[in-house]
Amino acid sequence: MCGIIGYVGRRPATPILIEGLRRLEYRGYDSTGIALVKRGNIAVTKSAGRLSVMEQMADMKAPQTTGIGHTRWATHGAPTDVNAHPHLDSTGRIAVIHNGQFDNDRALRTYLERQGIKCKSETDTEVLAQLINKFYQGDLEQAVRQALSEVSGAYAIAVVCSEEPDVVVAARKGGPLLIGVGKGEHLVASDPAAVLAHTSQVVYMSDGEMARITSDHVSMTTLDAIPVTREVEEVEWSLDEIELGGYEHFMLKEIMEQPGALENCLRGRIHAKDGSVHLGGLVDCTRELTRAKRFILTGCGTAWHAALVGEYLFEELIRTPTETEYASELRYRNPVIDDGTVVIAVSQSGETADTLAALVEAKSRGALTLGVVNAVGSSIARETDAGVFLHVGPEIGVASTKAFTAQVAVLAMMACYLGRRKHLSPSSAMQFIASLARIPQQVSEILGNADEARAVAQKYIEFENWLYLGRGYNYPVALEGALKLKEISYIHAEGLPAAEMKHGPIALIHEGMPVVVIATAGTQYDRILNNIAQVRARGGSVIAIATEGDREIARMAEHVLYVPDTIESLQPLLTVIPLQLIAYHAAVLRGCNVDKPRNLAKSVTVE
Ligand code: GLU
Repeated sequence: MCGIIGYVGRRPATPILIEGLRRLEYRGYDSTGIALVKRGNIAVTKSAGRLSVMEQMADMKAPQTTGIGHTRWATHGAPTDVNAHPHLDSTGRIAVIHNGQFDNDRALRTYLERQGIKCKSETDTEVLAQLINKFYQGDLEQAVRQALSEVSGAYAIAVVCSEEPDVVVAARKGGPLLIGVGKGEHLVASDPAAVLAHTSQVVYMSDGEMARITSDHVSMTTLDAIPVTREVEEVEWSLDEIELGGYEHFMLKEIMEQPGALENCLRGRIHAKDGSVHLGGLVDCTRELTRAKRFILTGCGTAWHAALVGEYLFEELIRTPTETEYASELRYRNPVIDDGTVVIAVSQSGETADTLAALVEAKSRGALTLGVVNAVGSSIARETDAGVFLHVGPEIGVASTKAFTAQVAVLAMMACYLGRRKHLSPSSAMQFIASLARIPQQVSEILGNADEARAVAQKYIEFENWLYLGRGYNYPVALEGALKLKEISYIHAEGLPAAEMKHGPIALIHEGMPVVVIATAGTQYDRILNNIAQVRARGGSVIAIATEGDREIARMAEHVLYVPDTIESLQPLLTVIPLQLIAYHAAVLRGCNVDKPRNLAKSVTVE
């Protein structure tokens, strides 16, 4: 959640910190701040609101070459100037930035108050700053270690001290953090995007690790002081990929780049000639996977919708019982998980706190765990026994688009890969893979008609309630379409399996209410036409997503957005595209901040 950037080197730190924070803006935040260190002094500039507000207050020419910067997404205390990070201890010699939350901050606050130490802010973070100062005896790393042993909860932190002006200490437990390795300088950040302008060489810190960073040296240990060595890795992303490249919003850019993103995701993995699938990440556990008695797919939000498509794909192609569960539920109930169960975590960032926790729980109960993740080096990618990366480049827009289609594509490949080792015939696999190979081109055809989605959004923009209906493989797409609209345009929308409508939600339908129905060709077509008739009979306006060439539907719906024909099980990869576009245009037309929707953050690393 939100972001951390730190710099120690030879160049003035302020512009580097501000630039890093700008790259982290997409993750969502409500306040920003920086701290610059020189011997005997720490200068803090911070404020609630957008980065540009704080930037105007900052001295861009300040000479300090060590500093830390933060974007906050409030968990403890309102988003005010006082609660913005960095937080100083009462003496002003320690400054801390923190992503995450401490669970025992109240008890620690009481303890500090008894010692006469009063916090200025309402944050849990300030408590840590006070504790570090209490333990400080000339060694920042040691003081941080001791203070962290007193807190419980999730965190990624960076700390500086005015008595050691050339040092940044960083630590993580449940929040992402990496070190950027430059020439005569180092950076620390929660996301590769924040360091990419300076270096593509990074060291991903693992959970439960600390680092002491100077301009020329990094030493890493576990929180218990056991030394660790980590490889320097090359970030695959280029700077272009994290820039707008002429688009007005990252969300639109990422919608439009889906054909290329999907090609990257499929490249070298599927072979249309013989219908085979090669997934390097699964080779070592293929035997175990084919013997699995049950799959549990887990995730949150959009990833959960992709997982639900995966459930349908797995049961159809592998014929092994599969269920999809919200990670936040899976982690806390007492699920039946044994060594015949395979748990697959689906997450764009690989840092989603609930998904990570569900995974750890499943692992501890003996499950084989897999990840379907975009961010290489992320916590979920590291925790899982095996997995398949999406390879779609960074997703910056808070509303996930290309990650959704790639997650579905990866789950489709996994289903075919394992299906072939069980019941799937060579000819069925060939048909499936040939259809999958055509998807990028078909997505690009849909994007060629993007204006039609804009017209639909324009027509219904005044309505505050929308329904999305789908059946079978397109039921998760209905959920996803509704979520996209809610997230960025703040219009209330509900996605339903179409047949459920008559069990309650049909009461909502009134004259003109927009009802988006996914009515593509397939086994459910006649039934979905019945649902359309039910909506029409109550005065609802039907926006149908239909298969090219379907003229019948045009007589029943107010609007039809066509998608090319494909097999039913791969339709979600196409039908979701017009829904992404409707949501995008609705948000733009309503004047919403598409890439920074209110209250939302990109990777949700808190519970
Ligand atoms: N828990 C801290 C706060 O409320 C940090 C929140 C964050 O930015 O992750 O200030």
